[in-house]
Amino acid sequence: MQIHEAFSLLPYNTFRINVEARYFSTFTNKDELDELTTHHSELTKLILGGGSNILFTKDYDGFVLKNEIKGIEVQHEDAGHVYVKAGAGENWHRFVLYCIQHNWAGVENLSLIPGNIGAAPIQNIGAYGVELDNIFLSLEAYHLQEKKIHTFTAADCEFGYRDSVFKNRYKDQFAILSVTFRFRKKPIFHVSYGAITEELEKMGVKELSIKAVSQAVIEIRSSKLPDPEKIANSGSFFKNPEVPANKYEELKLRFPGIIAYPLPNGTVKLAAGWMIEQCGWKGYRKGDVGCHAKQALVLVNYGNATGKEIYDLSEEILQSVNEKFGVELEREVNII
Ligand SMILES: Cc1cc2nc3c(=O)[nH]c(=O)nc-3n(C[C@H](O)[C@H](O)[C@H](O)COP(=O)(O)OP(=O)(O)OC[C@H]3O[C@@H](n4cnc5c(N)ncnc54)[C@H](O)[C@@H]3O)c2cc1C
Repeated sequence: MQIHEAFSLLPYNTFRINVEARYFSTFTNKDELDELTTHHSELTKLILGGGSNILFTKDYDGFVLKNEIKGIEVQHEDAGHVYVKAGAGENWHRFVLYCIQHNWAGVENLSLIPGNIGAAPIQNIGAYGVELDNIFLSLEAYHLQEKKIHTFTAADCEFGYRDSVFKNRYKDQFAILSVTFRFRKKPIFHVSYGAITEELEKMGVKELSIKAVSQAVIEIRSSKLPDPEKIANSGSFFKNPEVPANKYEELKLRFPGIIAYPLPNGTVKLAAGWMIEQCGWKGYRKGDVGCHAKQALVLVNYGNATGKEIYDLSEEILQSVNEKFGVELEREVNII
């Protein structure tokens, strides 16, 4: 365990922003984290995973602690389920593939999401009609001030759409150490969302399997989303906003092509990407900052953009969507 000073975070964020952390270290277990938190106790701490949902707008004047806790372990089984605990530093997609290999169902629609296990509950990651809370059982998290481990159930996490208690009341207070999942032995397939059915047909799949669904999701995602290894980005920069039904009716009269999904609670979720596109941003580029040509929700760094430049573009997009549609977008990416 080595503490680095004035440490470049360039390789540790998928937006490839070149900022420095005042101090940086990795930890592979709770005892190492315990020890690290006694150093520079006056400084703010940032727990880092894969850096795929974070935008650094300036140097970080604190202590960055990169979670590298590993391990995947079956806790127990019952007639219908397998309960699996995974270390927060495990890579998410590798874990998904491991589950599929073992025939543990429920996580296949969440294939190819970048990042690590520990960050998944922070924003209740979701894709193709499935969210983390569908397969979540509990997590263990270390309180950075109290230096104690707490167990959180799904109810304690207060999961919402790209949201949890860790983005609100408990923001920056905990380091998630492990997550326990509840997988099905017999799958329930979710293939009606997005283009999964079409992709499965294209693949010539006759009999559904979790492997086939995962493969279809991987194909769709690879064709639509920029690979951060090739074009630096952090996935969807904005959340899809929820508006009251009457606001949606009013918008639909003015913009008949608006893309929307009614929600069980009576509100309506609007496709932020569509609204951004209507404001003319899709494919926009200024210097090294841009709005991706295939997916307007994704802001990109073509080379040497600064975090501030990306943030400023997001602000311009927010304002133009608000002016045109009277809808306030919310950023999904964590701004530091
Ligand atoms: C190309 C691309 C596609 C994406 N697609 C999706 C998608 O379909 N659905 C989706 O939901 N997300 C998506 N994302 C966003 C991102 O992959 C997820 O949010 C992922 O869970 C972030 O994991 P990470 O380890 O990289 O988190 P980081 O970026 O390292 O951290 C994110 C936040 O969580 C905190 N954090 C991280 N680990 C811990 C921990 N162990 N304990 C406490 N706090 C922690 C950090 O402090 C930070 O605030 C995408 C990103 C990219 C680049």
